[in-house]
Amino acid sequence: MNLLTEEQSMMVEAARRFVREQIIEPRLDMALDRSGEFPHAIIEAMWEQGLLNGEFPSEAGGAGLSCYDHTLIIEELNYGCLGIATSAIANSLAALPLMLADNPRLSQEYLGRLTAKHGYAAYACSEPDAGSDVAGMSTRFVRKGDKYVINGRKRWITNADVADWYTVFAREQGTSGHKGIAIFVVEAGTPGLRHESMIHKLGQRASHTGDVVFEDVEVPATQLLAGPEHGFKLAMATFDRSRPWIAAGAAGVIRRARDEALRYATERRAFGEPIINHQMVAAMLADMEISYLASRLLCLNAASEVDRGNLRGSHSACAKAFGGDAAMKCTTDAVQIFGGYGYTQDFVVEKLMRDAKLLQIYEGTSQIQRLVISRDMVRSLNS
Ligand SMILES: Cc1cc2nc3c(=O)[nH]c(=O)nc-3n(C[C@H](O)[C@H](O)[C@H](O)COP(=O)(O)OP(=O)(O)OC[C@H]3O[C@@H](n4cnc5c(N)ncnc54)[C@H](O)[C@@H]3O)c2cc1C
Repeated sequence: MNLLTEEQSMMVEAARRFVREQIIEPRLDMALDRSGEFPHAIIEAMWEQGLLNGEFPSEAGGAGLSCYDHTLIIEELNYGCLGIATSAIANSLAALPLMLADNPRLSQEYLGRLTAKHGYAAYACSEPDAGSDVAGMSTRFVRKGDKYVINGRKRWITNADVADWYTVFAREQGTSGHKGIAIFVVEAGTPGLRHESMIHKLGQRASHTGDVVFEDVEVPATQLLAGPEHGFKLAMATFDRSRPWIAAGAAGVIRRARDEALRYATERRAFGEPIINHQMVAAMLADMEISYLASRLLCLNAASEVDRGNLRGSHSACAKAFGGDAAMKCTTDAVQIFGGYGYTQDFVVEKLMRDAKLLQIYEGTSQIQRLVISRDMVRSLNS
């Protein structure tokens, strides 16, 4: 089944060429995994090629791509390296609440900055004691004249150390639960705001993750993106929109694992023949192919539901949960197909496996996706 128009195929081909020439052939995926260096040059080149900020509206200088088209690009970037892609896509995650909130002034200014010039933004929601439980956040704000004052600590923030601005979730002092959470756009360099403790990770080491700390950070009232009655809902709506991107990442890494393992299995010989002739190896490869097709279809289904304005989050959750779990299995099987060599840093498959693990954790763990899906099933039963 051809799921792409001619124009989409050309877009995919351009992204694929970029990834091959700028990431895979120079082996920057493996080099940056080892060094943990932030991929500034590659991301700048992506920006120049129009591979970033895909869904930004044209009023903000963006390409105004559909979610469907954007996921096609994201799959390609993740084929190259999940860590580099996460660094690149963090901008879009930070931008989503601005695209969803009804605040054209902030949206045009901050999205416009990312389209006019290569730069970075970060989405600051999770905290040391509140990840899955977004409503459990404790970062708080109080109003003081024409300003808000924010105090607290955000953790696991992708691009914490490079962001020019942050999309920050905080609760009104004295509130609890999902009520009282507001969203601010906060400039890097605001007095009292600092990033610290870069986190050394299992995988996706080309992306930088850290804490963002707020100590009496004064933010002009005009930087309030969404008031306390809207913040939590907007956080959930953001995830419904961004989870197809993670699903696209899963499809990308599954395809990479499949390609690496297939090539190896035709070259490596055991018991006098290429290992692909051994049926248990062939079965693992066949399962990878099934997983790739299924994860891609679920991803494109979720993206087209987003484009149709269907706000049932379970499409995105199904795609993310299936993709994340399938990516973990396929990359682990790729290591298995490489045997002992798969367990070394001489081949990329061990990196794929370490990188893939995060797909089951960020933007809602695999368990949380299943909660979203099952709750939606119950809702539709009762409606
Ligand atoms: C590398 C990395 C980058 C990240 N980037 C960002 C970012 O840019 N911005 C941001 O805001 N956050 C980011 N995150 C945070 C990420 O979204 C959270 O780590 C994730 O949501 C899980 O939260 P937690 O780590 O607090 O785990 P917890 O919520 O403590 O969960 C621990 C375990 O308990 C399970 N669990 C929790 N509640 C339930 C439940 N009700 N039912 C069943 N199981 C449950 C979870 O599935 C998990 O297995 C990032 C995380 C990582 C690791």
